[in-house]
Amino acid sequence: MVSPEGRSLRIKAHPGLCAGWGNCHRFAPDVYPLDEHGQIAVHLFEVDAEHADDAWLGAQACPQSAISVIVR
Ligand code: SF4
Repeated sequence: MVSPEGRSLRIKAHPGLCAGWGNCHRFAPDVYPLDEHGQIAVHLFEVDAEHADDAWLGAQACPQSAISVIVR
């Protein structure tokens, strides 16, 4: 996957695939909130360029491949 290099991102998370590892939140707590079960609590959203690198790393760190990233 291509890194964002300062561009904004569209993120699509798949809560049905999430197994609650929490890696996404560890890399980018401001981008990936978790619910009370430790599973990702967001679906489709935009991330500005300022948070794009963290968002990208968090998506890469997901062992379930539950986060898709679209570079804008
Ligand atoms: S890293 Fe993946 S499996 Fe873990 S909480 Fe985040 S979305 Fe879920």
